[in-house]
Amino acid sequence: MIIDIPTSADFHAAGVKQVHLAWQIALQSLRDYDEATYFKLDGETPEEATEDFWRRSQPLLANAYSLIQHAMELALKGRIAAITPYLLIGDPKDWANSAATGTASFGEFRTLDAVDLVKVHNSVIARPLDDVFKAFWDQVRRDRNRIMHSAAPGTFTAAVVVKTILTAIDVLFSEIPWPRRLLQMEYESKFASLGFVDDAHTKVLSQIGSAIRELTPAEAKRFFGFDSKRRTYLCPHCYFAANHDWQDEWPHLAQFKTKTPGATSLHCFVCEWTIEVERVACKDETCQGDAIAEGICLTCTRTQ
Ligand SMILES: [Zn+2]
Ligand SMILES: [Zn+2]
Repeated sequence: MIIDIPTSADFHAAGVKQVHLAWQIALQSLRDYDEATYFKLDGETPEEATEDFWRRSQPLLANAYSLIQHAMELALKGRIAAITPYLLIGDPKDWANSAATGTASFGEFRTLDAVDLVKVHNSVIARPLDDVFKAFWDQVRRDRNRIMHSAAPGTFTAAVVVKTILTAIDVLFSEIPWPRRLLQMEYESKFASLGFVDDAHTKVLSQIGSAIRELTPAEAKRFFGFDSKRRTYLCPHCYFAANHDWQDEWPHLAQFKTKTPGATSLHCFVCEWTIEVERVACKDETCQGDAIAEGICLTCTRTQ
C-alpha cells in the first residue's frame, strides 16, 4: 500500500510558497538596488556600480529563477494529482516491491520528469495548456538547467525574474489575485506571529510599485489590470493601512474606473477597494492634484 500521498492542494500550496520566495528574492534585489544607488559608492561611475551590483546579484537571482521552475512543476503536479496522484509515480514496473508487500511512502517513488508534465497534464485534463505556455515552460526549464549545469550562467536581471514570476502566476496560481495573496502572506508571515504586521501593507505596496516599473504597459495590464498610460493616484485605503514611520514616497497604484473627465470612482487593484473621491483642486498650489479623499490629496498626500 502506498501511503503519505500528497493531495492536489498540498502540491499547489507548496508551489505558492516557492513562487512567493522567488518574488521576495527578486523584489528584495530591486529594493537593495534602489538603496544602493541612493547611497552611491564613491569612485565608481553609476554605470559601473550598476553593472557591479547586478553581477554580484546573479547567484541570488539564479536561485529565484530556479524556484519559479520548481513552483511551476509543483503546480502542474497538483493539477495532475487532482485526477489521480498515482499518475505522478510513473510506470508500476518501477514501483518499489515494498508497496505490494507492506507499505511504501509516496516520497520514496520517482516522480514524473519535468519534461513530461505538460504532456501528462494535457492528456488527462480537459482544459489543456496552450502552445504559448508550453514554449514558456520549456524556456524556463532550459534556463534553469543552464544555471544548474553551467559555471557561467547567463545574466539574470531582476526584470526578467519578475516577468517570469508573474507569467507563471498568471497561468498556474491565478485563483487568487497576486496582490491579495501577497497581503495574506505578509499578514501571516513569521513576523506576524511576533506581532509585527504594521509593515505588511507598506511592503506589498512598495513591492508592487517596484514590480510595475519593470513591466511594459501591456504586461502591467495583463498581470494587474493597471493602465500605465493613465494618471495614477495614491489609494487612501492602502495609505492608511500602511506604516508611515519610515516612508515619504508612496506608489500611486489607484486609477479611475472610467476615462470620463470628473470621474469619481477610484479603484485600487492592490486592496481591491473602489472609493468615491472629491474632484476639487488640492490646497497646495504647487500640486496639480484634483482628487481628494479621507482628508488628503491623492497626488501629494498633504492634508486638506
Ligand atoms: Zn488600495
Ligand atoms: Zn496635492
